Amino acid sequence: MNKRIFRYMGLLILLTVVVFAALWGTILTSQFGTQMKEGLQTLRVSVIDPSGTVLFDNMADPETMESHLNRPEVAAALQTGRGEDERLSDTLDKKTYYYAMRLEGGNVLRLALTTDSLAVLLFRFIPVVLLCLILAACLSFVVARRLTRRLVAPINNLDLDAPDLSGYDELLPLLEKIETQKKELSLQLAEIESRAATITAITGNMREGLLLLNREGRVLLANDSALRILGVRDAVRKHLIELCRDVAFLERASACLAGEKGETSLQLDGRFYSVFFNPVLDGGDLDGVVVLFIDVTERYASERQRKEFSANVSHELKTPLTAIAALSELIANGTAKDADVRPFAGKIQKQARRLIDMIEDIIRLSEFDEEGVPREFTRFNLYTAAEAVIDSLGEKAAERSVTVKLLGDPHLSVTANLRMTDELMYNLVDNAIKYNQEGGSVTVELSEDAQAVRLCVRDTGIGISEEHLDRIFERFYRVDKSRSKKTGGTGLGLSIVKHVAELHGGHVVVESQEGKGTSFTCLFKKA
Ligand code: ADP
Repeated sequence: MNKRIFRYMGLLILLTVVVFAALWGTILTSQFGTQMKEGLQTLRVSVIDPSGTVLFDNMADPETMESHLNRPEVAAALQTGRGEDERLSDTLDKKTYYYAMRLEGGNVLRLALTTDSLAVLLFRFIPVVLLCLILAACLSFVVARRLTRRLVAPINNLDLDAPDLSGYDELLPLLEKIETQKKELSLQLAEIESRAATITAITGNMREGLLLLNREGRVLLANDSALRILGVRDAVRKHLIELCRDVAFLERASACLAGEKGETSLQLDGRFYSVFFNPVLDGGDLDGVVVLFIDVTERYASERQRKEFSANVSHELKTPLTAIAALSELIANGTAKDADVRPFAGKIQKQARRLIDMIEDIIRLSEFDEEGVPREFTRFNLYTAAEAVIDSLGEKAAERSVTVKLLGDPHLSVTANLRMTDELMYNLVDNAIKYNQEGGSVTVELSEDAQAVRLCVRDTGIGISEEHLDRIFERFYRVDKSRSKKTGGTGLGLSIVKHVAELHGGHVVVESQEGKGTSFTCLFKKA
């Protein structure tokens, strides 16, 4: 590159000098010619005799001219044969050159040439010089620009991936440095990408929603769960306020952006979340905020269920106990007549029986809530077990003139918890009798396929209307409270049935038509 710059600069200077010299030469030559012509036209010729008298003058009358003996050039010519002198005019703007020579006869021939003084000459040339300078400068500018472009073009068009630097060797160290930095950058980029991929993989598989906010509260990172929870497709660069409008949530977020750790609960789309806000601090300064959403819907629901259950249990237990207390008090304080004592005792017994049934059902249900309790599974004949259950309810069925049939393979066996399966069948058949019509019928049908054993209890009873079907498995839920109480129901039977089926990897399906009958089908998974 040095050589190239040197070459271009040399060329430029040479060109400027040549152009300037050519212009200057041309102008001078023409000026010189003019000067010469003017000189010849103004050449003054005088002849002076040795006494100094002017004999001839082409520009003045010799008669009127004074003696020229004392003129330096005339005196020198008379003495030495030649003489010369130069004199400035009075106004100093003209200069006259004199040259004298002694002729053979002793006279002196004098030639005089008057030209402008040097200052005037110089002054006259100034516009010409300026013009030459301007022309040379313009030309130099144009040429310099073109040369600079040519010089810089290879650098501008340099392809960093396949650099061609012939003639630009001085740039090689710079290029090497760029290349090294390029490699370092691509390594760092690959590392950042791999870290980002790891973070995305980790957070992408999280069930919990995760948001990373910058200190302005804008989202830097949001995992899939967070997007799903907030119901948005993209959250990056959005402000938290654009994603959720819950006041408590936003207040907690603002507090966290001020450096305060916090927690709040949030309800979105019918689900409940615990949201944790953690400030990310870098040496005391807030760098951002991590927001974690944990779905607590199930926990919330079971807590609510537990609370409702406790409230219901107290209420349900209180009713028979109040009756027992009232009746026994009548007997104890002698208010009851002798004839009433027996019926009162009967009622007390009935209420006590109800209490015992209810407490037994509550105990059974609480067993299901205990996690980690080992359940004993055995293989037994389901047909025989169903037969026994139907037998135990025979009296009740007869009281209501309800006939109970058992259908299916008498050798059908199942691997299950015997006691619980008995309870399930008892509750279903008991209900089918209780909620049946006088003279109605109940059919218990057993079947199996490769995956499951099926137990179906069908009745021709009162049926259950559509709006209650979803709720009958809830604890203490009864369609008709008075009827259920009259028939000694606790409102816990179907809840137990559902739990037992689920414990065996199955479920219960109910179909019903009001006034026509109901069928409950339980599935026990074989595996
Ligand atoms: P209960 O002890 O009151 O029978 P369950 O939990 O066994 O409680 O049943 C809940 C409710 O479902 C009952 O109160 C009753 O209204 C309804 N039910 C259950 N089985 C039947 C059935 N076979 N036919 C009609 N209604 C039924």
